[in-house]
Amino acid sequence: MLAEIIDGKQVSAEVRARVASEVSEFVGGGGRVPVLATVIVGEDPASEVYVANKHRACEEAGMKSVHHGLPGDTSQEDLLALVSNLGADDGIDGILVQLPVPDHINPDEVVAAIDPAKDVDGLSPVSAGLLAGGNPGMIPCTPAGVIELIDHTGTDLTGADAVIVGRSKLVGRPLISLLLDRNATVTACHSRTRDLAGVCRRADVLIAAVGVPRLIGPEFVKPGAVVIDVGINRTGNGLVGDVDFEPVSKVAGAITPVPGGVGPMTIAMLMSNTLRAARSRA
Ligand code: NAD
Repeated sequence: MLAEIIDGKQVSAEVRARVASEVSEFVGGGGRVPVLATVIVGEDPASEVYVANKHRACEEAGMKSVHHGLPGDTSQEDLLALVSNLGADDGIDGILVQLPVPDHINPDEVVAAIDPAKDVDGLSPVSAGLLAGGNPGMIPCTPAGVIELIDHTGTDLTGADAVIVGRSKLVGRPLISLLLDRNATVTACHSRTRDLAGVCRRADVLIAAVGVPRLIGPEFVKPGAVVIDVGINRTGNGLVGDVDFEPVSKVAGAITPVPGGVGPMTIAMLMSNTLRAARSRA
């Protein structure tokens, strides 16, 4: 039997519609329209597109956005000063510094300078610490989107075996905490894991966040498992995930496609975080 295809575009549209309706409720109740501030240093065409999409999503959700485009030779000091000013500005609810930044800037220091109450990307050390401690503040957008997609399948995570392949700060590590908080039994795999296929085959929920095209084949998947593919790999044949979609969809119970799975969720969860920041600051 073929797996259910988890439609990230549809789930993302549902989340964005929910946020839009909650924004209108918040503003109707006397709240100020939430404002997201974005920052890009230098000219990176991909970053420009990502940020433009984020601004459009804000507008569609009834929120505002402001943009700071800084020249590529901006010093770390000047960037830190801007981040600090945005943190002190009462009119700003969320701050997002689009990565990557030019080589002369230390991204960790910049992200650490973001006011944790406005850290809508959820990547600051304070946000990471709160999440690891089981008392989440802002949750990083892509992992939050993964959980939303799993919930959409109706899977009960309590007691489920969840296996994550990849242990990055951006995706793998936050997912370990998020899945533990949902009472899953969590295994984190990485490049040194022995018998990766064998470990993955135990998973009721298998999440691939690796960056290796089609690494996860059908021999990695327990029949009926939920498979979430975070990978986005550009190949000669277009975008492919970390999961070998065709054969795996014959074994899995539900699976995300690439594109159209996890990808669209990231912006939706950013909108959700921006509203959350505005609410908790109000
Ligand atoms: P990363 O490079 O920071 O981390 C990759 C992880 O995979 C590492 O922990 C590494 O140990 C592990 N790994 C590498 N090779 C492996 C192997 N052969 N076997 C097992 N584990 C291995 O990557 P990242 O930032 O977590 O991103 C992972 C993928 O997800 C990329 O394709 C990226 O483009 C994609 N991504 C998508 C979104 C989105 O959909 N919005 C967001 C972030 C990342």
